[in-house]
Amino acid sequence: MPYKAYRDSSKTKEIKTCDTTIIDKGKTFYCHTQGCKAVMTLVNSGDSERAHFRRISSSPNHSSIFCSADGYFDPTEYDEAMFDFNVIFRKLMNPSDSPSNNDKKVGKDTNPIIGGGGKKQLSTVRQIYYMCRKYDEYNNYSSRDILADERNYATYKNGIIGNKIVQCTPYHKFHEEFAYKMNYPSFPYPNGKYIKLNFLTEKLFWEYYNKFKTTNYKDLIAILGNWTLPQSDEMYIAECTINNSRQIYFKIE
Ligand SMILES: [Zn+2]
Repeated sequence: MPYKAYRDSSKTKEIKTCDTTIIDKGKTFYCHTQGCKAVMTLVNSGDSERAHFRRISSSPNHSSIFCSADGYFDPTEYDEAMFDFNVIFRKLMNPSDSPSNNDKKVGKDTNPIIGGGGKKQLSTVRQIYYMCRKYDEYNNYSSRDILADERNYATYKNGIIGNKIVQCTPYHKFHEEFAYKMNYPSFPYPNGKYIKLNFLTEKLFWEYYNKFKTTNYKDLIAILGNWTLPQSDEMYIAECTINNSRQIYFKIE
């Protein structure tokens, strides 16, 4: 669900949701992607923080997976000042090590942990991914430093280093390794690159092998990891190790 669109079908008058008002309610807007024929309407009009565009169901489908890759992030549910990516990163990478009470009820899924409107902090890969798709900056963190996706491909196409979320799609298993090759930032993508997922255990690898095999190879997936460059000259630009399921978000829009 994008945050920008055009007011006119010839796509000359760009409009961002933060600049919309209540008088835009019920109007039609045109997808931001050039060549895409999808027609959209404004949801939550008059509420610039929560407004977003949504394709009208009777209109043509989006031409690209990126048209709707923004998902929907509602900032009013979270306390921005509590966002500390480094702390969240450690919790998600090692959930059992976390001393926080907030993690006590964490199951296998991506549900928010604590209750209370606007008092929650971002706590899942899914929430951080959508936040980064909406904001360039959040609590003084630059989204470009947190998320590698198609928008900053030029920055990351030759290597991804450090604690980041990377947007990708599954490709295939590495030969004679319990590792999976992924397309960054998606498939298809002009001159796209590969990244490598290693797994803490063989069991975890097969779990994801089966999930990837049954996933549409074009569906975007977001993966949190401590990314490093390959040891030698390889066909991939970065790799990380999956310790647990909280690092991976299968994006279903
Ligand atoms: Zn579109």
